[in-house]
Amino acid sequence: MDKLVLKPGREKSLKRRHPWVFSGAVAKVQGKPETGATVGVWSASGEFLAVAAYSPQSQIVARAWDWEERAVDEAFFRQRIEQAVGQRRALMGAAGAMRLIHAESDGLPGIVADRYGDTTVLQLNSAGAERWRETIADALLATDGTKRVWERSDAEVRQLEGLRPVTAPLRGAAEPKRVVIEEEGVRFGIDLEQGHKTGFYLDQRDNRQQLRALAAGRDVLDCFCYSGGFALNAAAGGASSVVGVDSSAEALALARGNAELNQLPQPEWLQGDVFELLRKFRDSRRSFDLVVLDPPKFAPTAAHAEKAARAYKDINLLAFKLLRPGGLLMTFSCSGGVTADLFQKIVAGSALDAGTEAQVVARLSAASDHPVALNFPEGEYLKGLICRVAGQ
Ligand code: SAH
Repeated sequence: MDKLVLKPGREKSLKRRHPWVFSGAVAKVQGKPETGATVGVWSASGEFLAVAAYSPQSQIVARAWDWEERAVDEAFFRQRIEQAVGQRRALMGAAGAMRLIHAESDGLPGIVADRYGDTTVLQLNSAGAERWRETIADALLATDGTKRVWERSDAEVRQLEGLRPVTAPLRGAAEPKRVVIEEEGVRFGIDLEQGHKTGFYLDQRDNRQQLRALAAGRDVLDCFCYSGGFALNAAAGGASSVVGVDSSAEALALARGNAELNQLPQPEWLQGDVFELLRKFRDSRRSFDLVVLDPPKFAPTAAHAEKAARAYKDINLLAFKLLRPGGLLMTFSCSGGVTADLFQKIVAGSALDAGTEAQVVARLSAASDHPVALNFPEGEYLKGLICRVAGQ
């Protein structure tokens, strides 16, 4: 097995079982490992640290598969995938849609798999994952419940690994390209080919239920609504009225279809830029009892945090202005570069500048099929708050 030898002192994070090796930590590469190949990682003093996937084009030059000197082969993937899927089965029972593999946090760096009914959507985000595509697809099929595997390896992070986007059926029937899932009694159509991420934002499952429980009799505004995850749960929860806003016409077409599928009252869907629309609502003094803000990732890494902070501040400030006394703000950040602590500070600053007094009544995170390995805090990307504005 080829070797990466680290610079003195750079073994610390691997010893804490953090799975990433940054290119600046490597003193030398022994042998000629191919992209994605398994290498041994050794300390400067000759101590074995990990077996890892080599990714020469990426700043994360290696991702650890394991801490023992062992073979990374079919049996390895079969065992890790069975373990991840088995844990979901214990946790989620017979739920129709769930995340089966959550990458680094399941000991499978760069590998994401989401199940939608009997279709599993696979996303490979690293050179190591890419190299094992066929093995991973077979192992997924062999764990029960999945009849076909669709690949949606088109996340931007692939560029950092020097990988091209891939969207294609990988195992089983290519058709249909749309599947319908049911989540706590609400059905959603999933577009396997063009839907965002792997087709749906499974991480928000529990938070959609929280919203449903709070929606009765309220006027609800769902900003960045995509296929209507929050908006339709508000409708299902008995909201007085629901407005959903997204910039994408395709997303709103899915959302409209989903309302029909559930025979729910059709929300008012508005296509546009949330930043502009919130200003329009403020200027026309339109108000709501419950506002959801679930924007896209403004800060993929800490380097973007400052710019992202301004964007979060802006939308949260405007949302506070639209809320009636006693109203609720359900606000999220899925930016890896913004910590929960920083996010709360930004939201506090927004309330202050909006002249609103508010309390945090709940803290939110991704659902439990998106675990965070304790040695991999980067896995904790989604954070949210429910804030209540002072008043009756
Ligand atoms: N809340 C959704 C997921 C939101 S993902 C759910 O639970 O399913 C973020 C969404 O924001 C995407 O659908 C994207 O199309 C939309 N978006 C991105 N920038 C936007 C902007 N400036 N204004 C409105 N929508 C935007």
